[in-house]
Amino acid sequence: MPAGGGAGAGAGGGDAGRKALVVGGSLAGLSAANWLTAAGWRVEILERSRQPLEDRGAGIVLHPSTSRFLTEQQGLALDDFSLGVDHLRYVGPSGDVVAESASRLRFGAYGALYRSLRRSLEERGGAYVHGAHVTGAGADAGGAVVELADGSRRTADLVVGADGVRSTVRRAVLPAIEPVVAGYVAWRGVFPEDELPPGVREPLARAITYTILDHGHILTYPIRTATGEVQRNWVWYRNLPSPDDLDELLRDRDGERHDLSVPAGAVRQEHLDELQAAAAATLPPPVAKLVRATAEPFVQVMVDVDPPKVAFGRICLVGDAGFVARPHAAAGTAKGAEEAWLLAQTVADPAIDVPAALATWELAVLPIGSALVARSRRAGERAQYEGTWEVGEPLPFGLRAAGDSEYGPEGAAAGHTRPGSG
Ligand SMILES: Cc1cc2nc3c(=O)[nH]c(=O)nc-3n(C[C@H](O)[C@H](O)[C@H](O)COP(=O)(O)OP(=O)(O)OC[C@H]3O[C@@H](n4cnc5c(N)ncnc54)[C@H](O)[C@@H]3O)c2cc1C
Repeated sequence: MPAGGGAGAGAGGGDAGRKALVVGGSLAGLSAANWLTAAGWRVEILERSRQPLEDRGAGIVLHPSTSRFLTEQQGLALDDFSLGVDHLRYVGPSGDVVAESASRLRFGAYGALYRSLRRSLEERGGAYVHGAHVTGAGADAGGAVVELADGSRRTADLVVGADGVRSTVRRAVLPAIEPVVAGYVAWRGVFPEDELPPGVREPLARAITYTILDHGHILTYPIRTATGEVQRNWVWYRNLPSPDDLDELLRDRDGERHDLSVPAGAVRQEHLDELQAAAAATLPPPVAKLVRATAEPFVQVMVDVDPPKVAFGRICLVGDAGFVARPHAAAGTAKGAEEAWLLAQTVADPAIDVPAALATWELAVLPIGSALVARSRRAGERAQYEGTWEVGEPLPFGLRAAGDSEYGPEGAAAGHTRPGSG
């Protein structure tokens, strides 16, 4: 199926309004669907998973772009789905605080963001279809087209690929682009804040806490889950001795080889044992206790994806389907939300030519994505290989620039930007 323009006149089967198909119903897909719905589009999400995606157990450093839809369009308060801290703290090998500065970062949980964005879409009449496995994307005379695993085809005025790192839509339009493995992984876990072992809660309280290790680093911060519970989230970046270790690590308890992550509950016991031993041997005591108390950590492989284009006629790529930055700038979700917001503004005018609008949108988002990938890669190389991430230095968190993830004094979004402003 050729990618590209197509007339688009028949999209939507004669229904009123323009129709968008969003492939992938995670945070980027939900952001795109919500913003497009708010801009007057009829939207349908095609999600491969047969169940809601609520149980991923991961913390997300928020950015004003990530929270914008929920605060501006849904009228939610930031405290409804996130919490803030007062300090950035660095903890040394013995567990002592070795540097501390003020921080106005805010943190959310994947499940809380997913649930809020999904509820909003459903309230606005957007459709969310589970079990819809897209196998291809392109264009014909009727508009943009997606093919599904059941053999059916759907046509729309716009197709938004929001199907993650291994995007099928990206493969259809950019077959040569593959994720580039960085050589290290992120181990992640959460633990209920009010069950933290003695000696752990106080050193970490009201803070995002970093420990710089020999060829690695670990951070931890509190999150508010979808049910309102406060949990302690941690992320430990660990280098792989060799590519063979990756193959081993990605093989789960049933022997199945996963692609770029092994979910909680599936990591083989020998790897969990090794993690526990390494925590005891190398982490400061409070952080080691947190990691060792976590029942089912999970692991994700760090990759870069740096595509030359993200708009192809009536097809575009958002979130991890487009650029994938290593998480050191903590802005992957923010990038997807920003791309979605800019997209909806660019195609809001019902009379606009969609391929021309996507070309304009691409000019705005390409520099954000490629700069984020480069800045995040640099931060990762410094921390994991060069040993030049200094104790006490400001974090590289930010979407357009380091520092723009911080919120204002009352939790207001300090880093809000308008299209074309950056
Ligand atoms: C360790 C780590 C820490 C991070 N921390 C932060 C942070 O603090 N702040 C931040 O902003 N970002 C962070 N990120 C990045 C963030 O998690 C991702 O950028 C973001 O979740 C990507 O969302 P997405 O919707 O683009 O992709 P995904 O969440 O991967 O969703 C893709 C969806 O598409 C569906 N799908 C896939 N293929 C198909 C198909 N063929 N047909 C139909 N559906 C399909 C999948 O089932 C899935 O639901 C972090 C990432 C990692 C790894």
